[in-house]
Amino acid sequence: MIRHSQSIRRSTTLTAGILATVLTVVPAAIYFVMAFSHMTGVIETEGEINARVVGALVVANPKMWEFEELRLKELLSRRSTDTAEKRVLYNLKGQVIAESLDKVLPPLLSRSFPVHDAGHRVANLVVSRSLAPTLMVTALLFCLGALAAGFAFFRLRTVPLRAVESAYRSLKQSEEKYRSVYESLNEGLALFRSVPVSDTETDLVLMDINPAAVSVFGFERDDIGKGILDLQGGLFAPVREALQGTPAEVILELAQEAAGRVFIVNAFPMGDGMVATLLEDVTEKKRSAEQLENLAYYDSLTGLLNRRMLLDRMEHTIGSAQRDGIKMATLFFDLNGFKPINDTMGHEAGDQILIEVARRLKSSVRKKDTLARLGGDEFVVVATLDTEDNASCIAQNLLRKLNPVYEVGGREVYVGASIGISVYPGDGTTPETLLKNADIAMYNAKKPGVEFCFYSAQMNQKLQERTRLESDLWRALEREEFFLEYQPIMDARTGRVAAVEALVRWMSPERGRVMPDSFIPLAEATGIIVPLGEWVLKTACTKLRQWLDAGCLPIRMSVNVSGCHFMRSELCRMVEEAAEQSGVDLALLELELTETCLIKDVEETAAKLWHLKGLNVSIGIDDFGTGYSSLQYLKNFPIDHLKIDRAFIKNVCDLPDQRAIVDAIIGIAKAMELHVIAEGVETLDQAEYLAHRGCDELQGYYYHRPLSEERLLEVLREERERLQLVPDTAGVGEAGVRETHTGDAAGDGAPVPVQPV
Ligand code: C2E
Ligand code: CA
Ligand code: CA
Repeated sequence: MIRHSQSIRRSTTLTAGILATVLTVVPAAIYFVMAFSHMTGVIETEGEINARVVGALVVANPKMWEFEELRLKELLSRRSTDTAEKRVLYNLKGQVIAESLDKVLPPLLSRSFPVHDAGHRVANLVVSRSLAPTLMVTALLFCLGALAAGFAFFRLRTVPLRAVESAYRSLKQSEEKYRSVYESLNEGLALFRSVPVSDTETDLVLMDINPAAVSVFGFERDDIGKGILDLQGGLFAPVREALQGTPAEVILELAQEAAGRVFIVNAFPMGDGMVATLLEDVTEKKRSAEQLENLAYYDSLTGLLNRRMLLDRMEHTIGSAQRDGIKMATLFFDLNGFKPINDTMGHEAGDQILIEVARRLKSSVRKKDTLARLGGDEFVVVATLDTEDNASCIAQNLLRKLNPVYEVGGREVYVGASIGISVYPGDGTTPETLLKNADIAMYNAKKPGVEFCFYSAQMNQKLQERTRLESDLWRALEREEFFLEYQPIMDARTGRVAAVEALVRWMSPERGRVMPDSFIPLAEATGIIVPLGEWVLKTACTKLRQWLDAGCLPIRMSVNVSGCHFMRSELCRMVEEAAEQSGVDLALLELELTETCLIKDVEETAAKLWHLKGLNVSIGIDDFGTGYSSLQYLKNFPIDHLKIDRAFIKNVCDLPDQRAIVDAIIGIAKAMELHVIAEGVETLDQAEYLAHRGCDELQGYYYHRPLSEERLLEVLREERERLQLVPDTAGVGEAGVRETHTGDAAGDGAPVPVQPV
């Protein structure tokens, strides 16, 4: 740049100097020349006239004119202009004969004019004018010109130089900007110059590389000047090949297998024989794209196809089945007993089982069949069929191979499977329909004694019925079609009603009276259980408050809380609200929870239970003995009572096994200082046995069926009256069992119980 600016400076100085000189000299010179020629012209004219006037005197007085000094002087002093002009008359010897009186300042401009007498020169007249004014004006003009020229010179000399400098500065800035981008690029940038090596072939020689090319792509500074084939063990040979004869941009993917890396090389000619190559390391990108693809198409736990890929495969299989005129079976698997294991033994145990199921299925299906996991414990096998019977064989074979025994954490667990089967084209012609129908069939295969089940149109009707029931349930909630019945729970010692269990019923305008077993599972599955549970809780509390206000003796109110209700909603808030709205003492409220719902998330459960305990609410475990928990495990929760499931009570008098279980539950509960309740007590023998073994409370048809509110109030009133009549009847043990027996069940169509002794 310095060299450039010096040469620009030299040439601008020269040009400005020439221009300044011209500006200085030319106006003064022009003025001088013009003034000079004007003065010359005037002198010529004046001189001619004067010479002629003197000539006339000479002619008139040829002998004496030289002596007529005065006359001559007068003639010479006669002037036509104001300008001073000296006129001197010389004889031929050069002596002054006469002269005018004017004084003129030197320097002078003089002209000599001959004076003739009869054709002979007799004298010379010299006319002179002063050049001083002209020279002064010329000098002035010169000075002014020089001044202007000086100014012009400096301007002309500096302006282009400044423009060049600013252009250079901005060029430098933009170059620096691009340089920093170039240096900080994550992509490697290598500049090559193409050098012809033959008529048809050109080589690429490395000219420059950016830091990323060095650090990421393993180039070295020493590589500069090398041919492209000598770089990185010839990795870039395809780039050289692709650029032969093509002045266009090329994009190539290159794999450096030894290092397990993949690059994208974008080479583009930049003109002047330069080629820039942009190098991007896409190893990680490719790896994550592959992982994403795996995630998109494969189940990450088992490595089987996922739903999306299954639908895709089914589409293909349907296409070929249609072409070949054959059938295709979709077998929908669902594991039985998996959920409780997952809930009680943890997700890791569940995952181990799922992986093992996948392994067993994989080794059992034919190569041409498709196996997928839909999520959860659902698997699907899609197989083309020769005959429809073939589908049963496949299902049977798979079930046999899918041995239900699994070993998890050193324990043996049993996980069976139910299979629903839909067959193309009869049960559907699209993957979605076939899957949906196989799923419907699978629900039917869940029935006891059924392992697999083919889809039928009636099943769909059942499903539709389920959907209708769901919407009816929502409507029932809005229209307040639910109501409560209350089943008394008797104190085994005193025989008095110690508590009542609130049991929900639905009075449907279309279906009539519907019992909870028909709608609670659906309410749980759809979430309706949360508002329904809230309604039950609040209604039960309000009723209890009303009864107490009406003079009933204090009894506990037992409310069933569904597992999903307990897990999902803010049960504690609902309980507080129920207490606030009804004004009932929460010490009289008892919540019945099931074991499985408690051990799903031990920490959260404990926190909730302690919160409830803090509100003074009692907590009981319903259907005890059917879940998977151990008493030891439950010790960590603030539980007040256990309710032995009625399945154990049913045969407690006849089957020693059942008796042993009931005895064990009562024994351990006592050891843990828990209150024990037996439900489903239907006979006197059962009641006596349980009371004898130490059961604290008894509930069942033997005493009362679930009662309407009015009937319950009657029972409570009768009991109060009896107590008033016989104030000291509070006996113990068997006496209590017999005393409390009211025969109320008869009103509900139950067998008439034995009258008290
Ligand atoms: P559960 O909690 O075990 O309730 C006791 C069930 O056993 C009641 O059936 C009752 O009628 C029946 N039962 C009582 N004594 C005997 C007996 O001596 N023999 C026989 N065989 N059965 C007896 P219900 O009312 O049909 O209720 C069935 C189940 O529905 C309940 O079982 C409970 O799990 C659920 N349920 C009822 N009401 C509610 C509710 O408000 N909320 C929730 N979440 N579940 C409820
Ligand atoms: Ca219950
Ligand atoms: Ca129960």
